[in-house]
Amino acid sequence: MIGLITNFEQWFLHPNEQSKKTFSELMDNTFKLIVDESMKVNKPFAGASRQDIESMVKKVTRIPECGQNLKDVMMDIHEGIVKQSLWISHPSAMAHLHCPPLLPSIAAEMIIGALNQSMDSWDQSPAATYVEEELLQFFINQIGYPANADGVFTSGGTQSNYMGLLLARNQACETYFSVNVHEDGLPVEASKLRILCSEHAHFTVQKSAAQLGLGIHSVVKVKTNNKQQLCLDDAKEKLDLLHQQGLIPFMIVATAGTTDFGSIDNVKEIADLANTYRLWLHVDAAYGGALLFSHQYRQLLDHLWEADSITIDFHKLYYQSISCGAFFVKEKKSFQQIMYHADYLNPEEDYEEGIINLVEKNIQTTRRFDALKILMTFKLLGTDMFGEMIDYTIHLAKKTAQLLREHEFDVVNDPVMNAVLFRFVPDHVDAPHVIDEINLELQRYFYQSGELIMAKTKHNGKIYLKFTMLHPLNTIERMKEHIEKLKQVAKKIESEKGEDIYEYSVRR
Ligand SMILES: *Cc1c(COP(=O)(O)O)cnc(C)c1O
Repeated sequence: MIGLITNFEQWFLHPNEQSKKTFSELMDNTFKLIVDESMKVNKPFAGASRQDIESMVKKVTRIPECGQNLKDVMMDIHEGIVKQSLWISHPSAMAHLHCPPLLPSIAAEMIIGALNQSMDSWDQSPAATYVEEELLQFFINQIGYPANADGVFTSGGTQSNYMGLLLARNQACETYFSVNVHEDGLPVEASKLRILCSEHAHFTVQKSAAQLGLGIHSVVKVKTNNKQQLCLDDAKEKLDLLHQQGLIPFMIVATAGTTDFGSIDNVKEIADLANTYRLWLHVDAAYGGALLFSHQYRQLLDHLWEADSITIDFHKLYYQSISCGAFFVKEKKSFQQIMYHADYLNPEEDYEEGIINLVEKNIQTTRRFDALKILMTFKLLGTDMFGEMIDYTIHLAKKTAQLLREHEFDVVNDPVMNAVLFRFVPDHVDAPHVIDEINLELQRYFYQSGELIMAKTKHNGKIYLKFTMLHPLNTIERMKEHIEKLKQVAKKIESEKGEDIYEYSVRR
């Protein structure tokens, strides 16, 4: 038995030499793996095929009955997983709102893992609870929210948007039907409830509505103007129409930083509209929330404080490793709508004594100490440097849009943030589906070559390509090279397609 206990000890943090040795070896090997890879990587993706990646992964995911040697395990992880991964820290990885993590965030992950605090109750996270609360207060001040505002860390924008809809729905049922949904469930009249958002709002608005028993069709899409912003006149028209139909619009979702365009809705106008029509205003600033620290563009969020609730993601333009996000409410008491007291975790007596159990503000129970990542990042970088990074990437996106236009690409948006939507339009092909195919092939070609990772999306029914230029180490010189290569490959695909079309018509 004693022998067994010694064996267990080396696998936990424990004040003895065995534990220290195992942990040091693990960390040294992990550190070496990441640093070596980082020094070697010269493109974001190695370019193996899907089938090859799947079989390589299958080879290294066999689980043994007896533990293996560390060197072998690290080798498997390196060869089968790390080398086949998308290297998101490379500046040419610019598909999604998926960021290169800042080094302090990566380091903080180790402390988070080692402390393993659970944020649901104070007794499981005595210091971490206050860290989270202090950081939320820091953001509340940045937003310009009043003193009785509140917030909580979440797993990201999906959860934050869901919580916005949840609180707004419960409040609407109280106001319009005198029903406490938390206690009694949804009343039948809830089928009359409607939510407005722009056609460019994130899909999680609809998904949340569906999950919250309101249905996808409870979300009414408002048209956008030529700057991809929610169109106020159309919103008014839709609201009046809904009222005429006897329906109950109770919420409007504005987006600060749409996923495809980075466009920012006019929050002031929408806030005024929300006041007039008595709507809960939620601002989805999952992406645009980083402008709080911008030196040049902070004014785009000047009216953020007017929102009843706000989503901000830190694992996007705040360069934090996944997951890290937050949800804010203008009035602390909104959280009472989801408060539940579990005797074993957060009894009512705790609440009365002023003990903070964060589970009361969240839909998650066991939860990560993600706030530490933000704390370490901001303490080391300072808010000024962070703001400069954001401004640099926006400047770069604006110049890239210009460069794309000079190279005769069709560019949809004048970037307000750092996303650029564009497509290649060939000289000699008019068939819309062929133009779509050429652009899809371009995206695939560059993904598979591994040198440039772009996203594809649809706009007005057509395929477009997207650069989401989050990386502060990207440069205009690099973008120039990419754009020239894009044009060259596009022309090649176009001429191959041209031959196909020609052959096709000859054969017929
Ligand atoms: C990414 C995104 C979301 C979803 O957030 P996750 O962190 O992926 O859950 C919601 N809204 C917007 C505008 C986003 O860009």
